[in-house]
Amino acid sequence: MPTPAPNPHLPFGDQRGAPWYGKDILSVRQFNREDLEYIFAVSHEMRTMVERVGTFDLLKGKILANLFYEPSTRTSSSFTAAMERLGGSVIPINEVKYSSVTKGETLADTVRTLECYADVVVLRHPETGSAAIAAKAARKPVINAGDGTGEHPTQALLDALTIREELGHLDGLTITMLGDLKYGRTVHSLARLSSLYKVKLNYVSPDLLRMPAEIISELKASKMEQTEHSSLDPVLAETDVLYVTRVQKERFENEADYEKVKGAYVIDKATMKSAKQRMIVMHPLPRVTEISMDFDEDPRAAYFRQMEYGLYVRMALLAMVLGKA
Ligand code: ASP
Repeated sequence: MPTPAPNPHLPFGDQRGAPWYGKDILSVRQFNREDLEYIFAVSHEMRTMVERVGTFDLLKGKILANLFYEPSTRTSSSFTAAMERLGGSVIPINEVKYSSVTKGETLADTVRTLECYADVVVLRHPETGSAAIAAKAARKPVINAGDGTGEHPTQALLDALTIREELGHLDGLTITMLGDLKYGRTVHSLARLSSLYKVKLNYVSPDLLRMPAEIISELKASKMEQTEHSSLDPVLAETDVLYVTRVQKERFENEADYEKVKGAYVIDKATMKSAKQRMIVMHPLPRVTEISMDFDEDPRAAYFRQMEYGLYVRMALLAMVLGKA
């Protein structure tokens, strides 16, 4: 559903009638181009405020429950930092093994509990569709911070912001996704989000790790230009954004398959000689061996800058669902 334009005169006011107030953020399918423009604008404001004052009281008195059933460094800590920079506080549940989950409590009951104490729940869970289940059980907003191999919408939003900030626009770009396109939820979300723009998508992966057919046909229906390859060579020179992913070891049913593909691609200084000078290399992180450290100093290596954009996007999203942006 298209979102009504926000009130430009009240960028940080109390807007209980604001379009995102009380909403869940479960999938990138919820967003249209105008929404993205709005999120980029609010994220930009957040950046300015952080640079100017560090912390401010927009969400003073609000509480976030950060519920993580899977490991996380960036997503978990950037949501915490986002809430605290906005003057709010956080209930961190990073080790569900110390919570009632180990006593057999269902996800729905855990979320119902947390929303008694918090105003918004951020959830990471190993099962696809878990965020939607949690959102159904909860009255307060649920933000999907990664549901199995499904989606990672807040990552895709920060990825899109990174591309916009680094290259100025998304329309007309060629984005090449490399590595584990089967299990990588970040590429599932980013591919879907890219369909809002005039972007060409190249998928480069071993046969075992190809982009799921249902995503390819979903994007075909929206007239997206997509190509599939097993080698980076044919597409590197035309690439504006090289989006590298980790082979998701934890999703494999057998170790032998993981062993076959784990070192399939390595981006290093030598590989990048045939790429454009004005392009960027992104990675949702953590990286294992797929980007060599010898490339980190190259100005095209955007993956460390990318994680900083995550803070501003998550500040924007928290302010939006809590009715303050
Ligand atoms: N941090 C990202 C995710 O949670 C990417 C990864 O783990 O490889 O999906």
